[in-house]
Amino acid sequence: LGLVADQVGQMLGLATARAEEQARVEALAAIDAAKSSFLSSVSHELRTPLTLILGPLEDALNGRVATIERDDLEVMHASAHRLLRLVGGLLDVARVESDTLVAVREPTDVAELTADLLGPFLAAASRAGMHLDRDLDPDIGVIDLDPELWEKILLNLVGNALKYTHEGSVTVSLTVADSDLVLTVADTGLGIPEPEVDRVFDRFHRVRTPESGYAEGTGLGLALVADAAAALGGWVQLVTQLGAGSSFTVVVPLRPSTGAPHQLPPTRL
Ligand code: ADP
Repeated sequence: LGLVADQVGQMLGLATARAEEQARVEALAAIDAAKSSFLSSVSHELRTPLTLILGPLEDALNGRVATIERDDLEVMHASAHRLLRLVGGLLDVARVESDTLVAVREPTDVAELTADLLGPFLAAASRAGMHLDRDLDPDIGVIDLDPELWEKILLNLVGNALKYTHEGSVTVSLTVADSDLVLTVADTGLGIPEPEVDRVFDRFHRVRTPESGYAEGTGLGLALVADAAAALGGWVQLVTQLGAGSSFTVVVPLRPSTGAPHQLPPTRL
């Protein structure tokens, strides 16, 4: 009887391994399909802003118009920014694909860096009629941190919170608990449906709801946040309720530093 039980156990084990392998293959195929569709839509989307920039420029260069009107300049400016975002998305694909997010730590005043990075979002939030509240513990001081990875985490989480909250508020808090640095970005926005909660961290995965479906994006932001948190030795947690909002918490081990903080480098792509 023991032998039969062993054999049944082995068969069940094999069946489970096969099902797991099958799920892995399907997940990889889904990522591959999402990547292809992202790359083809980005390549396609590059054309429109380029045309909007080249049109008025060529009219001016060919003497068809004496000067470029302010309206056209504004369209060109917005189009150049759109190009920058698209190229940024392509760079993100390369970063995520190469799986090489490695922390390069330097002495960083994390509360100051966070406040600086939030600056441009304050104006954007108030233009959209929303509140962006900050609660940054100024006593954290200088720690050993990779400012570039921190920027990636913060910009993606706050950008998403504003993008997926149509009215209401976003709260960013930074504190120390035990010996961890804890960042929370909470919003009163759309929330994420329960079955999607684990998948939103997958590369290229986007939630398609009528409310969020039209927002610009690549589906890479949260994958980068998770990769960046892991590169800092930490992790991300999501608590969300559909229709009520989402709260993302990033926890990374605190590494106090005795060095003087470096200056924030100029904005990168
Ligand atoms: P993107 O925003 O480019 O689509 P992300 O990886 O940043 O990609 O996010 C994946 C998906 O998770 C988004 O498409 C969106 O549906 C959902 N999501 C992310 N952040 C939020 C948020 N704060 N509130 C509601 N949904 C969110």
